[in-house]
Amino acid sequence: MTPFDYTRGTAFFRESFVPFGEANVSIASSPVLYGLSVYTVFSVNWNETDKKMYAFRLKEHYERLVNSAKIMDFHGFAPAWPYERFEATIKDLVEKNGIQGEDVLVRATIFVDALIAGTKIHGLPHVFAAYVYPIGSILPGVGINMCVSSWIRNADNAIPSRAKVNGGYVNACLMKNEAILDGYDDAIALDEHGHVTEATVANVFIVRNGALITPSANNDLLEGITRRSVMEIAKKLGVPTEERAVDRTELYIADEAFISGTSARLIPILSVDKRPIGGGVAGPITQQLSAEYGKAQHGTDGGAYAAWRTEI
Ligand code: PMP
Repeated sequence: MTPFDYTRGTAFFRESFVPFGEANVSIASSPVLYGLSVYTVFSVNWNETDKKMYAFRLKEHYERLVNSAKIMDFHGFAPAWPYERFEATIKDLVEKNGIQGEDVLVRATIFVDALIAGTKIHGLPHVFAAYVYPIGSILPGVGINMCVSSWIRNADNAIPSRAKVNGGYVNACLMKNEAILDGYDDAIALDEHGHVTEATVANVFIVRNGALITPSANNDLLEGITRRSVMEIAKKLGVPTEERAVDRTELYIADEAFISGTSARLIPILSVDKRPIGGGVAGPITQQLSAEYGKAQHGTDGGAYAAWRTEI
């Protein structure tokens, strides 16, 4: 099946549905000049059993978008876009693009819609935009070789990682660029104190002595919705979970490690800084969590995670 061609699709932009090619901002606009936009990306997955599309954890993505807007003082977003309107617009968007039978991603963005406005935020108009694109694969699903980046993660008091703000992704781009040039698939950033934060576009988990461990939400990271899902699945499976500061060297001696994210899904980490993790293959807990996550997305979980899916 040929993946959905988003360039020929329909986008939501400035209060209406328009051809994707018309959903553009000016070179003098605040998102281009200063990265003044916030976003989320969520998956809409095909359910083979009932032949319908379902958005994965739509409410949680909406709530994180609202929080990103709050942090950035895009104060008008939540009143103008209550959840019901957001959900209805996403349903219309997927329907207008005629998506059926394949998993896709939706990118939903709020941007400051002003020209040559300097670095101001407050009081400027901001608008909601969204488009659909094929899920593809951003990294090899069988596993990745990672390095610890020489770039540190931007601190909460500099560019808050908790807000999914476009301008903050310069940090991830520098990490990714360095990693690729050095022959790695992706990088893990430490914070200013040397603790593990996250990968470029995914959270990090390790397994040590049967326990699932991930850096705390106050370690300069994005509060990933896949991260939360993985922890909830682990609890259901009876795997002990810990959110705490993780040292760099714990990565080297972990029994298993993986990254989690909407676009990445769950991908085993095969090595960090050339130290093989576990046996250099996906470990049993990683495999189990990955399988459960896939079932939760596609509705093959016997209803265990039905509350996470919104029919589109
Ligand atoms: N961290 C960063 C920096 C990200 O860009 C992403 C992708 N959105 C994640 C973590 C994972 O978040 P989620 O599971 O909500 O996709």
